[in-house]
Amino acid sequence: MTKRIFIVGLILLVFATTFPTASTNAQNRKAPRGEVHALWAHPTDVGMTAQSVREFVAQCKRAHIDVIVMDVKDSNGGLYWKSKQVPQAIARGYENFDMLEHLVREAHAVGIKVDAWLVDFMEGANGAAFREHPEWAQLNPDGETTLSEKLGKKNPYPYVWMCPARRPGYTDQWLIPLYEEIVRNYKVDSVHHDYVRYMGDVAPEGYCFCDYCVKHIPRHAMLSYETRPEERYRVKHGQPRIEANWWSDPTMLPADWDKRDRREKADYILNGRTIPGGPPDMRYFFYDYRVHQIEKFVRETTEGVKRINPKVGVSAAVFKNPIISARFIGQHWDQWNDWIDVYMPMTYRSHFAGSFESYLDHLTESTERQIEWIRGKRPLYAGIASNYLYREEYQPFDDIRDRIGEFKELPIADAKGRAEKMRAIKTAYETTRQRLAQFAPEREREFGSLINAVSVNDGSSATAAQLDELAKKIVAFRNDLPKGFMTPEKLRLSIEAARKAKPQGIIIFAGGSLTREKLWHVLEEEFKN
Ligand SMILES: [Zn+2]
Repeated sequence: MTKRIFIVGLILLVFATTFPTASTNAQNRKAPRGEVHALWAHPTDVGMTAQSVREFVAQCKRAHIDVIVMDVKDSNGGLYWKSKQVPQAIARGYENFDMLEHLVREAHAVGIKVDAWLVDFMEGANGAAFREHPEWAQLNPDGETTLSEKLGKKNPYPYVWMCPARRPGYTDQWLIPLYEEIVRNYKVDSVHHDYVRYMGDVAPEGYCFCDYCVKHIPRHAMLSYETRPEERYRVKHGQPRIEANWWSDPTMLPADWDKRDRREKADYILNGRTIPGGPPDMRYFFYDYRVHQIEKFVRETTEGVKRINPKVGVSAAVFKNPIISARFIGQHWDQWNDWIDVYMPMTYRSHFAGSFESYLDHLTESTERQIEWIRGKRPLYAGIASNYLYREEYQPFDDIRDRIGEFKELPIADAKGRAEKMRAIKTAYETTRQRLAQFAPEREREFGSLINAVSVNDGSSATAAQLDELAKKIVAFRNDLPKGFMTPEKLRLSIEAARKAKPQGIIIFAGGSLTREKLWHVLEEEFKN
């Protein structure tokens, strides 16, 4: 184990010193003509004064950003504009500061466009929508919301996902009206979908089995007739292959459907057979229903906003592969060309398992395929998340943080367990020590002495205060990284890899990461037209 980690450390060291420099003439190179440069940004990036908004916009201008895609409805349901429709949902602290209004004014003054980015179906457990309408939430076969799920092995899942299908419900009573309110009252250039899908991270196919969906999934596929409901039609066995008799007009819903409870109905929808004796294919209709619901929402949003202002665009952050996404999260985005003006696929490294070098190849390949999937009919901006590029650089710090957490949970009596965790902390630190010494020698001394202090006698005398201080120092370090620690070359190479597929633009996630990782200068050089 130790040997393996040593080798990883060695690779990191070699990687740090001999990293390929593909763009030695970055200063002189120009972005391809017409390539659009966009940036996802959060309210925290722009601050809460007219002056701080202006400074952020000026930074974007220096980085040749053409479009700021600004989060105005966050993952807790908080709004960053002066909503008259649901003022109770305005994010705390923003009651008297209309962030969107300031941003649009400042950005337009220097020729930058603004897309208003909304988190669609994920809401906060304490958000106004769920608080006022718990009946709009998605339910699993047990009748529980997504709050009943687990993130990892033990952390409770903190978000509520709202049902996209239910009418009247969250989609038509809350969300689409918010899009319309923005377009009616602000001069945004576009609105922007995010989380325009079902949940995918912890229970990609457990939802939604709310009362509305349990009724409408079979109805969507017309698995039985509403006229003459009492008549049942059996499969006629004319063809030897059982499923070849599908067109003989069987009634696919069981006769006792109305007497079944939610769990039984969900089980049938997920595991049933359209033809008795045939393959367990019923869930095909469940996937199709979800795809249909998301598509319907996208269409209705576009129809709503274009009715108010036909010049306003609609863009969307989507997963890298629309075919796989259709199955897992109902996001068949290659079929949205009629309603989406610009696609911004999140082709982030976090969605690829391999090395950084393999990511570069897969980024090019995936972007080419994305353009092919939409038949080149709409502009597509390749989405790169700067933070995920630095998996190797962040990993030792994440490991130390996680091991500290685990160490603190072990009983004092478990000397062996504690010694193991402490060794893991030291080993993780060893993999980044040289890099720290190179870019932040004073941090290296600080971390070194803290780790020495806690690891005396295999950690048997480490105090909670010492461990907390170490954990706090790691958080502080991650929030304000020394320049160069996150190799600028990785961001450059990713931009180059995306460019090979000739997308119409490149969008970077996110403003805050560029600041933390000291990477704005890369865009200043790479995005120069
Ligand atoms: Zn539902």
